[in-house]
Amino acid sequence: MNSFEQRRLLLAERESNARTYARGIDRVISRGEIARVYDSQGREYIDCLACAGALPLGHNHPLIQEKVAEFLRSGQLQQALDIATPAKLDFVEALYRALPARFAEDARVQFCGPSGSDCVEAALKLFKTATGRRSVLAFQGAYHGMTMGSLGMMGNLGPKAAVSGSPAEIQFLPFPYAYRSPFGVGSRETEQLSLAFIENLLSDPESGVTKPALLIVEPIQGEGGCIPASAEWLRGLREITARHDVPLVLDEVQSGFGRSGDMFAHEYAGIVPDAILMSKAVGGGYPLAVMAYHRKYDRWGPGAHAGTFRGNQIALVSGAATLEYLQRPGVLEHVRQMGQLLRRRLDALQQRFACIGEIRGRGLMLGIELIDPQGPRDSHGRPPAHGSLAKALKRACLERGLIIETGGRHGAVMRMLPPLVVSADDIEEISRRFEAALS
Ligand code: PMP
Repeated sequence: MNSFEQRRLLLAERESNARTYARGIDRVISRGEIARVYDSQGREYIDCLACAGALPLGHNHPLIQEKVAEFLRSGQLQQALDIATPAKLDFVEALYRALPARFAEDARVQFCGPSGSDCVEAALKLFKTATGRRSVLAFQGAYHGMTMGSLGMMGNLGPKAAVSGSPAEIQFLPFPYAYRSPFGVGSRETEQLSLAFIENLLSDPESGVTKPALLIVEPIQGEGGCIPASAEWLRGLREITARHDVPLVLDEVQSGFGRSGDMFAHEYAGIVPDAILMSKAVGGGYPLAVMAYHRKYDRWGPGAHAGTFRGNQIALVSGAATLEYLQRPGVLEHVRQMGQLLRRRLDALQQRFACIGEIRGRGLMLGIELIDPQGPRDSHGRPPAHGSLAKALKRACLERGLIIETGGRHGAVMRMLPPLVVSADDIEEISRRFEAALS
């Protein structure tokens, strides 16, 4: 055993039992170059996790390296609370250019703490303050973070069962998850029923919920199993929430900034939300979270949402460079093309492997739901999700040089989130290694 391995074992002994990725990736990862990472023994892996989507340009992209190095030598402030600095001015300008134009016109921004959960908390506070309402609407299968407020809105009991006393009054709504609905993929009924449920909840005075302060939704459920919402459903949701005067908050923490092949995943529906929550890619790999919202809701007082690390200057520099890069001609088109190529390779695998139930997603946010074709069918005739197979496959992928995470109901979905700048060769290699692991 080399000294890195001994020290890693000591770390595992010392680190919290709540540690996550370090369990699956039981190696010391010492180096990275765009979509490839290398462990302390020199083994190479393709990174299909990209720090849960936080590395749109991958590891050590020369653009980010240069901008950050230049900034560190410049003598500007390292941290600056929420004070104006050149880095912040550049970032805000880049952000407003990246935001959908119709939304940006009336948008204000709140800088939040470093993580996605922080901007979810900010949304809860802002919209409760602005509307004077108490309850919130969220979706089954949703993931919004691990702080108490965001955890409360998680549509999955597992991670929160042990933490009683959710701080928000939350009503969960059915997310259109066609593959596991009674109507199946390709039918409109799943979406129609979901919208009808929401309409009924908001218009029926006996529904048992008070008028909500906000409705929060991921345009593509990420951790929940990479489930994209259709443009029609998003438009229906926008129409209902507007008619009932319920602020629509889009959690684009994972789906935003090119991941879906559009700058924001909701853009292809042509809707204008009341707020967009951003983290992960927004800092280009450094911790940053931002909430942008319609100025008519800017009804909280000075200092209502403070936080020491709202002004992480390195994240602002790296974020501005990343947003500028993503807006270059052809970059989003590249994401769409690489997504389609990966999709074609996965579709071909589905023909050969009966354990692949569904392949779904958009851009470079793809999910593969694994099933047990021989297992007992559910009441709609669908074979059961195969979480233990997903776990074994994740391990087999790691051993063949592919880092990939699982998610979704029963942990049965393999989620592919490579850096957005992957090459076609990388995609072919991802497919080959995934196929070898499946075999
Ligand atoms: N919202 C979504 C959609 C996410 O995917 C995540 C993280 N996976 C979060 C919020 C929370 O972000 P963080 O882990 O940075 O707190």
